[in-house]
Amino acid sequence: MSKDLTRRELMLRSITAGGLFAAGSLMPVSSALANQAAGQSTTQTDAHVPATIVDGKVVQPRRELPVLQKTSILVVGGGPAGTAAALSAKRLGVDVTLVERYGYLGGLATGGLVLGIFPLYDRDKKQVIYGIGEELMKKLDVLKFGIIDRNKAPVYPTIDAEAFKYVLADMVLDSGINAYLDCWGVDAIVDAKGAVRGAVFESKSGRKAILADIVIDASGDGDIYAAAGAAFEKVKTNIGLISRIGNIDEVDMAVGRGSEDPEHPVTGQPGTGRPSKGRVNDLNGHAGNSTPAPHVNWLNMKGPVGDALDVADLTAMELKHRRGTWGNVEKLRQKPGNEQVYLAETAPQLGVRLSRLLDGVKKLTVQDIRGGAKYKDVIGYSGAYANAPEFQIPYGSLVPSKVENVLAAGRCISTDFQVGDITRLIPVCWVTGQAAGLAAALCIQDRCKPRNVSVTKLQNLLHQQGAYLG
Ligand SMILES: Cc1cc2nc3c(=O)[nH]c(=O)nc-3n(C[C@H](O)[C@H](O)[C@H](O)COP(=O)(O)OP(=O)(O)OC[C@H]3O[C@@H](n4cnc5c(N)ncnc54)[C@H](O)[C@@H]3O)c2cc1C
Repeated sequence: MSKDLTRRELMLRSITAGGLFAAGSLMPVSSALANQAAGQSTTQTDAHVPATIVDGKVVQPRRELPVLQKTSILVVGGGPAGTAAALSAKRLGVDVTLVERYGYLGGLATGGLVLGIFPLYDRDKKQVIYGIGEELMKKLDVLKFGIIDRNKAPVYPTIDAEAFKYVLADMVLDSGINAYLDCWGVDAIVDAKGAVRGAVFESKSGRKAILADIVIDASGDGDIYAAAGAAFEKVKTNIGLISRIGNIDEVDMAVGRGSEDPEHPVTGQPGTGRPSKGRVNDLNGHAGNSTPAPHVNWLNMKGPVGDALDVADLTAMELKHRRGTWGNVEKLRQKPGNEQVYLAETAPQLGVRLSRLLDGVKKLTVQDIRGGAKYKDVIGYSGAYANAPEFQIPYGSLVPSKVENVLAAGRCISTDFQVGDITRLIPVCWVTGQAAGLAAALCIQDRCKPRNVSVTKLQNLLHQQGAYLG
């Protein structure tokens, strides 16, 4: 390249010609000699070419992305669904990579401080969710202050977020899964036919690609399947922020504690099936529900309706919810006996319930549930929730109607809004995560697409891993 060209001219040339930048070809890393002495800094210049402004528009130069990893199964999102998917797939001996945007695993169950685990039981108080979820709760069971109210239907178990982070870190470290934390999935990689071949990630190491045979989108928000072009319904619902308070002995509810919404629309109870009018101050001096930590409660919050895919909405809620939560504790302290109550923590991560719902091979609807639908491709159950009955979940609700090589798991699977308000709950996310992981492993073993997975084999594997299919 000509030495006479300015850096800006080079960028413009590359952009307008649609050419591929060879990273580092424009501006070599500084010739400053690396000083090897520990603790001493070196002066460097990044070889990266930044975005620029062309004709008033911000334009990012085309560039080649380094490949961080090649893997058989890529799981994006380390929440309940993603960790269940990665662990179950890895047990079949396939190569699995798990990527999570935050620095811990567990998703909303840890970072969101969602500590109540329901619905686990059917209307007769029989447990209908086992498999990897049961295994995780058993691991919490042997830890001091790990979980309370295990096997006490209709009272739901409540977990400790730190204990759960520990359990998941322990299991992932021992599993042989390639894990990347602090790594945010920002795009899908698709081939000429539109089939998914991996995803692009941003991290402190820069923008890199992970190539994969099958991708499981367990981001909760369907970030990767949406980027790949899969159809989805965008929904807005209540967004809250959960907190924990200390030095407290009273609780709001004795039975079914932490229940999200006892008047759920599936049941025909009052309600429209649309989001309800939660407010920032809907805590209103509430004391919350007990947790495994002595004298510490968690406070669920409904919150106002917001757009979980809009950074301005998310920011406003993060700020207002933290202010509102502090006010709630001040209010609570005014009650005699509660003078020493303190705010232990607000959840690091906002409480997003639903954002994208996949348009899948099968969309699970409220009519299906009311009619007690049974599926040949059943992969597990949801327990009864509020007054809604237990119901079957079909494999088709994890498979996009069109795009290949990607599966959904967790709160972004294919349902209507009302059913999504149940399938988003933690134990059900364990069910869909485990099934997605095993289905992806079968795709690798049988060299097939997710939509062509042998349902019989999938159900056998689920049985072998302890899942309940009815
Ligand atoms: C306020 C509130 C109260 C709730 N109460 C209950 C309750 O009492 N009981 C119950 O069972 N359920 C409850 N839920 C529901 C439940 O907590 C969640 O729906 C469930 O955790 C969803 O699991 P998931 O794995 O699908 O998604 P998440 O838990 O959201 O996990 C998704 C993971 O993916 C990561 N991620 C997202 N995008 C990217 C990306 N682009 N790249 C990389 N990583 C990414 C996230 O950081 C996260 O770790 C509640 C939810 C909320 C919001």
